[in-house]
Amino acid sequence: MADQKTKEKYAELALRTGVNLQKNQALMINAPIEGADFTRIVARKAYELGAKDVHINWADDELTLLKYENAPDEVIEDFPEWRVKLYESYAEDGAAVLSIRSTNPDLLKDIDSSRVAMANKASAQAMKNFRQYTMNDRITWSIISIPTGDWAQKVFPDKSRENAVASLWDAIVKIVRVDQADPIAAWDAHNETLKTAREILNRKKYTKLIYKAPGTDLEIGLPQGHIWKGGSAVSEQGTTFNPNMPTEEVFSLPHKYHVNGTVASTKPLNYGGSLIDNFSLTFKDGKVVDYKAEQGEETLKHLLETDEGASRLGEVALVPHESPVSQSGLIFYNTLFDENASCHIALGKAYPTNLEGGAAMDDQELDKHGVNDSLTHVDFMIGSENLDIDGVLEDGTTEAVFRNGTWALNVKGD
Ligand code: ZN
Ligand code: ZN
Repeated sequence: MADQKTKEKYAELALRTGVNLQKNQALMINAPIEGADFTRIVARKAYELGAKDVHINWADDELTLLKYENAPDEVIEDFPEWRVKLYESYAEDGAAVLSIRSTNPDLLKDIDSSRVAMANKASAQAMKNFRQYTMNDRITWSIISIPTGDWAQKVFPDKSRENAVASLWDAIVKIVRVDQADPIAAWDAHNETLKTAREILNRKKYTKLIYKAPGTDLEIGLPQGHIWKGGSAVSEQGTTFNPNMPTEEVFSLPHKYHVNGTVASTKPLNYGGSLIDNFSLTFKDGKVVDYKAEQGEETLKHLLETDEGASRLGEVALVPHESPVSQSGLIFYNTLFDENASCHIALGKAYPTNLEGGAAMDDQELDKHGVNDSLTHVDFMIGSENLDIDGVLEDGTTEAVFRNGTWALNVKGD
């Protein structure tokens, strides 16, 4: 079980390395009510670091479930204007946004998936403007997690609730490097490694990546001017921050019209409280033309039908199979962790900042450059120790990028 001191180290890491909170800046925290103790530690530290205001949006799984079970469709498909205004006004004020994601992966498993899809779509539509602040790095933002009882028991089904929470704390603390003497220094070093990897890939300028693994034979075209990112990011105001903790990936954007072949998932996907597992997608000219799933096929169908862009790719990410998340040997049923165990791709919106000049382009220009747009962005895992990836250089020659699930390129700089 993480003790008070460990939690304080984690809170400080989230504020300094995560959102990099500045003096006189406001902080908005999205937090699970079950994590109130930890959230208060974060709030106190934030004020110590000079925050002018800490606003917390409490989430409660039980109340969310009650609403899905009881509220009529017109309430489910309404995302209130006041909530949009709340987020937008903090963003306009240049606030930092810290989200603590700890939802029970099975929370909505008995809810009609069309109602869940309705709510997800409504929130995506309403928050379109706010999302520009995060997806274009106009503000500093970060996503972290802490254990909650239901989630911990999903990860450790054989343990008591209390022991499951303690075990999940232990796993998270190790993965986010809070167990180290100086977690902030550990993250600085980690960010350097990710920087080396993305710099190599940015020099290579591959025109496409070719993925081969059991059930997978996929070509992903990369647009001209694509940029590999990873680790820390820099906001419009020039503040360095870490959007995800943990993060083990370097990522870029696929060309929305140049993806062909079939890809098989390697981990379950928790989509808004519903699980999709053992699924595969077949692409032609960038679009999903066929799909199947052993579990959650209806949910997958709803996801793909969210809008036109939901059946095209918006992210390609490389994560070595020996990442600390992968080494934990656990399945977290939480994308923040699972995506950092494994190479992944995302359906839906691409980050315009992954293209040279992309942040300043309008929708039409982005489309012309192959940048996908959608209300949704959903990562899913395709990496394993059996994955090989080749890169095709501009002169047409092919070289190994990944072999047996890990880097074939010299990213360690030795
Ligand atoms: Zn990613
Ligand atoms: Zn993603």
